[in-house]
Amino acid sequence: MIIMSKVIIDEGETCGICLEDLIDVDNVIQLKCSHKYCYECIFNSYYTPYKSFNKKKHRECPYCRKNGGYLPLPENTLPFKDIHKEYLLHNLPKLPFWRGISYYKKDILLAIAKKVGISTTKENNKIKLKKELYNDIKTAYTTNPSILNTY
Ligand SMILES: [Zn+2]
Ligand SMILES: [Zn+2]
Repeated sequence: MIIMSKVIIDEGETCGICLEDLIDVDNVIQLKCSHKYCYECIFNSYYTPYKSFNKKKHRECPYCRKNGGYLPLPENTLPFKDIHKEYLLHNLPKLPFWRGISYYKKDILLAIAKKVGISTTKENNKIKLKKELYNDIKTAYTTNPSILNTY
């Protein structure tokens, strides 16, 4: 498992889950809340809600209970739902849109636009607004339904 990790580890710092010295661990992950864990330990902690069906929040830091953010995706690994942000991009929602704009996150709309060959930027080279992306995608498959076959 290869994860590019730029986490700075202080002498004597340990993983809050397995208590291993982080100096000895290859894949140390620093969450958004700044707490550090072995990749495997925090992955299993994030993953546990799906096994136990308890009410734990997604991506919760086991120490401070804040949202720890997504984990980096190791090389040659498939993304997991609610653990790696790549999951959303690997599992784009089906077209045509059958939900309102608020259901779709902007990075998902950007990924859909790229996939169906719509420009994601405006004339001034700025990234389109969420509403523009949503409408442009809609226009694209309404005027040319065949793009749905290749999507
Ligand atoms: Zn650990
Ligand atoms: Zn934390």
